[in-house]
Amino acid sequence: LALANAGVEKLHPYQPGKPVAELERELGISNSVKLASNENPLGLSPKARAAIERSLPELARYPDANGFALKSALAGKLGVNTDQLVLGNGSNELIDLVFHTFVAAQQQVVFSQYTFIVYAMATQAHGAQAVEIPAKDFGHDLDAMAAAITDQTKLVCITNPNNPTGTFLTKAELAAFLAKVPRQVLVILDEAYTEYVAEDERHPSIDWLAQYPNLIVSRTFSKAYGLAGLRVGYMVAHPELISVLNRVREPFNCNSLGLAAAEAALNDEAYLSEVVELNRREMARYETFFEQLGLRYVTSRGNFITLDLQRNAAPVYEALLREGVIVRPIAGYGLPTCLRISIGLEHENQRCMDALAKILA
Ligand code: PMP
Repeated sequence: LALANAGVEKLHPYQPGKPVAELERELGISNSVKLASNENPLGLSPKARAAIERSLPELARYPDANGFALKSALAGKLGVNTDQLVLGNGSNELIDLVFHTFVAAQQQVVFSQYTFIVYAMATQAHGAQAVEIPAKDFGHDLDAMAAAITDQTKLVCITNPNNPTGTFLTKAELAAFLAKVPRQVLVILDEAYTEYVAEDERHPSIDWLAQYPNLIVSRTFSKAYGLAGLRVGYMVAHPELISVLNRVREPFNCNSLGLAAAEAALNDEAYLSEVVELNRREMARYETFFEQLGLRYVTSRGNFITLDLQRNAAPVYEALLREGVIVRPIAGYGLPTCLRISIGLEHENQRCMDALAKILA
């Protein structure tokens, strides 16, 4: 087959966790707990569920191609105009859309080692050149990233909090970085986990948009809003940039159920507080547990925590599976000694901790 570019030829598929039913069948177990994909353990917000039910009779119709209601709700919440918003089938689709729209073959894309793997994949799929900057303390080395920008650089990708390590860049660090980036270079600031960050620590990324027409803030309804299966994400940026993305994207990229559920979830503040509070409480419990066992972990601001076993983590991953606890090995991210554990419900986390204590005893 003649492919569009050499990058496509070398592309490896994204490796999601196996479906739970398949894993359970293979292992001959039932009632496993899945702490592998940074999903929301509380399930749907009741308001989102009601919105989905209300939308069912409309499913024979096409969705609203412009997502008017969701964009209006988001604009109100974020204090931006609707022409600063583009909606996607998950933020993943939008990341790809940015590459498709702006990144030409051979141009350079700068990102950090140990960051969300889709940035490397999209770079390769579009025949662009990856400039991967070695991580500093498991997170982004912003000085080195700024220094790596050249005349060939088109895009810089920053994930904050970072996945899979959970590291966090402060407002001061990010503000200093943005000031150094030339205006012709786009910056995606991926904030998939931003809702988990305490409000006083969160960086004012939306306010920075007025100052930086090259900044694209990316967010999702898959994590704190609990809608991973419905695939809704959004980007916020300068209207000119958004207008191009809206012309290039597919007209019906977001489905009716996702649009309705996202709007309802956005307005369910009680649910969001519960989600964030559960995560804060259970994260603290994992930290205490790791400290008691003398295990190394990376301090995380996301809904997951990365444990560094300082030896090949694969046998521990396998042993956890046999105990019915599914976590995420991240050797594919270059971290073969680490396991990423998504924060679950209290009893799920307890199972994970009990299994780890047993395996590592
Ligand atoms: N960005 C980051 C940093 C992520 O971890 C994820 C999901 N794993 C995404 C984007 C994509 O999420 P979605 O497509 O579900 O919005």
